[in-house]
Amino acid sequence: MQAGKNQAAVPSTVHCDHLIQAEVGAVTDLAKANDKNKEVYDFLSSVSNKYGIGFWKPGAGIIHQVVLENYAFPGGMMIGTDSHTPNAGGLGMVAIGVGGADACDVMAGLPWELKFPKLIGVKLTGKMSGWTAAKDVILKVAGILTVKGGTGAIVEYFGDGARSLSATGKGTICNMGAEIGATTSIFGYDEKSAAYLEVTGRADIVALANDIATHLTGDEEVYANPEKYFDQLIEINLSELEPHVNGPFTPDLAWPISKFAAAVKENGWPAKLEVGLIGSCTNSSYEDISRAASLAKQAVDKNLVAKSEFTITPGSEQVRFTVDRDGFLDTFGKMGGVVLANACGPCIGQWARHGADKQVKNSIITSFNRNFAKRADGNPNTHAFVASPEIVTALAIAGDLTFNPMTDTLTNTDGQQVMLDEPRGLELPPLGFAVEDAGYQAPAEDGSSVTVSVSPTSDRLQLLDSFKPWEGVDLKGLKLLIKAKGKCTTDHISMAGPWLRYRGHLDNISNNMLIGAVNEFNDQTNKVKNQLTGEFGEVPATQRDYKAHGIGTIVVGDENYGEGSSREHAAMEPRFLGVRAILVKSFARIHETNLKKQGMLGLTFDNPADYDLIQEDDMIDILGLTSFAPGKPLQVILNHAGGSTDTLIVNHTYNEGQIEWFKAGSALNLIKEGL
Ligand code: SF4
Repeated sequence: MQAGKNQAAVPSTVHCDHLIQAEVGAVTDLAKANDKNKEVYDFLSSVSNKYGIGFWKPGAGIIHQVVLENYAFPGGMMIGTDSHTPNAGGLGMVAIGVGGADACDVMAGLPWELKFPKLIGVKLTGKMSGWTAAKDVILKVAGILTVKGGTGAIVEYFGDGARSLSATGKGTICNMGAEIGATTSIFGYDEKSAAYLEVTGRADIVALANDIATHLTGDEEVYANPEKYFDQLIEINLSELEPHVNGPFTPDLAWPISKFAAAVKENGWPAKLEVGLIGSCTNSSYEDISRAASLAKQAVDKNLVAKSEFTITPGSEQVRFTVDRDGFLDTFGKMGGVVLANACGPCIGQWARHGADKQVKNSIITSFNRNFAKRADGNPNTHAFVASPEIVTALAIAGDLTFNPMTDTLTNTDGQQVMLDEPRGLELPPLGFAVEDAGYQAPAEDGSSVTVSVSPTSDRLQLLDSFKPWEGVDLKGLKLLIKAKGKCTTDHISMAGPWLRYRGHLDNISNNMLIGAVNEFNDQTNKVKNQLTGEFGEVPATQRDYKAHGIGTIVVGDENYGEGSSREHAAMEPRFLGVRAILVKSFARIHETNLKKQGMLGLTFDNPADYDLIQEDDMIDILGLTSFAPGKPLQVILNHAGGSTDTLIVNHTYNEGQIEWFKAGSALNLIKEGL
């Protein structure tokens, strides 16, 4: 709309998966969401219809699963406004998560750019069996590389072990590669990719891909001597890989199942498991569901009563319909499982979990990919762990985090000790996939007569105003808004959960800006000093006060600032409320780009220890902007309250074009100018 185009310049789709609150079950929850979010869905549907964009209705599924089933293909390239877009790497596609601003640019016809990535090779040997699942590969890799280890890199999986994994298993691994900060992850095209494309109705793509198969995977000499070609090489023997459980509070705290029980006890994590949740965009394939259902069936057959609550989130209507037809949902129901809507639900904080507001210390386990504090239910004391759907199901049956299904027994209702047998499942449905209504709306051939309306009184939707261009001088007299301590993800900067309701209304959603960040000076969240009044207040309110007085501010942060979701609001909100710069030890890639797109200054300390020099009452100048140039550091002067000063060197990664975004006030401003 803002770019003045009639049609999106590249094939594009919109997916409604983040706004459906999980409460009692799919049918009721979806009906409620359709009612509550009607205004937003109508807007998205009409915009899609008008501008040539495919629209996947609420309940159709989660974006990455829908993309894998319908759009992903080997050798293609795609960007998506969600950090788990790399899911499509399971089918050999270069699929990269970006911010909304990046996607808008591409849809408006601008090229997309990326700093040339490093290459990390993961050689998989052997073959999985028993309790081990594809999820365990990425849980293990996350433990090795940590949440930062993949930053600026494409992770390529190869080897005999890679070829033995199902296409959807590969998708799981690539999906969760977002948790190691990877730009994307990818597998080469192989027989498993072909089989999945065939069963999802894309035999024509298989025929084309088979003709050029040698170009859709790495070269032989690369795989023969990987150490020569990759910047880093990891080798994992799938035959020896144990199931893993990662967490709590971070996805890279990796525990082989044999060591997990001891870790639970030593760390004092609540051993009683309250809820097991399977599904999500990363783990709701036919293979996942059928293997988890084999355990649910055993529970019923062996007279075991599941001790934890248990939920299933299918990734798409096609998967839901198929696994329902094949009896798996019925099996879960017998175990006490509740099927949630085909949507993100608890994975994005859209979970009306009863009692979460009491903030009781408790444990949950999911087959999702993220487990940051508060993400699932808003309770900072919920210890969330991540594992394969099989392990989640087994632990939910046991109701105990210290249960190891490979070695331990459970007591059934007859008082007998029974063991769970290894899970069994099928990679692909023997009867093929089926669906009655996939939930897709094709766009109008000619959208010129389609009207898109936004009510000026809406509290959910607000058309964007342009941000002001740079004033052409150095930024002086900025106040410190917050010095964030430790992990500060995009969830901390722009919380999800109930706030997602306001995603279409920048002013309203800005009331969540940085409310999850911990203030270095008092170890509290959402409590910062207002330098104008000396009072302590909430971060958004304090920033609005500075804005009202025409005073710019700066946010200071720690390592990997902005990791997590690709949420562009985490950049738009500070920009909208008048923050001028974010100065950190290091950035997560997508967030740094998002800041640049919004015309913000994203800067890093040349000496990370300078973070310690920032004081609560500092007034800060940023110098060198009048000669802002690629590779040329800027200077920051800290004017401390006592009159002393410190001068710091700060770095940036802006190229020529990105400096123009800063000067214009945002990348969108430049598009509008037709440049
Ligand atoms: S919120 Fe969760 S389920 Fe939804 S796309 Fe993101 S990671 Fe996937």
